[in-house]
Amino acid sequence: NPLIGVLALQGDVREHRAALESSGARTVGVRRVAELEAVDGLVLPGGESTTIDKLLRIFDLYEPLQKAIADGLPVYGSCAGMILLADTVVGGTSDQQTLGGLDVVVRRNAFGRQVDSFETDLDVEGVEGPPVHAAFIRAPWVESTGPRASAIATIRTGPAAGRIVAVRQGGLLATSFHPEITGDARIHQLFVSIVRKGY
Ligand code: GLN
Repeated sequence: NPLIGVLALQGDVREHRAALESSGARTVGVRRVAELEAVDGLVLPGGESTTIDKLLRIFDLYEPLQKAIADGLPVYGSCAGMILLADTVVGGTSDQQTLGGLDVVVRRNAFGRQVDSFETDLDVEGVEGPPVHAAFIRAPWVESTGPRASAIATIRTGPAAGRIVAVRQGGLLATSFHPEITGDARIHQLFVSIVRKGY
């Protein structure tokens, strides 16, 4: 079974590992380069993207991770993790840098403030069965996708209807929402199958 790392600097590390293990992966928390080098895929949990960025630099993981993504390591980013994967971020601090790799423009805090956090049902391409119940916590959305990335889920109703909240690009997967807190492992299953296929 593939070994999938969960970046263990901030966020729901334990919940992500449990969901991945229930989906047939072995898991490890990643805080060091040696751990990063051992994994077949990596999850970037949600949290605060500017804080995770700082911690990546403090732990000397920023450049190794950027290179691993460029070299094709499958990576799933949730919420702040989506921001870190995006080639371009808007609505953040003007100098916010990202690891990049995902050919999208992401808007930080796009749905509003913390109090505007919400849950909704989504159809996600590649996920079978009933809609995915998704939790958005001060979430970003994907403002636009470039030619290499594909939208796989959009908000169905309300003022944000049509906004892109999940994307794929080869071995990269990103969601605006937090699948680790709703007890539905199908997004993690999708990522495990991406890691198994190697793209
Ligand atoms: N608002 C956070 C950011 O901009 C992301 C929130 C989350 O990951 N739940 O980084």
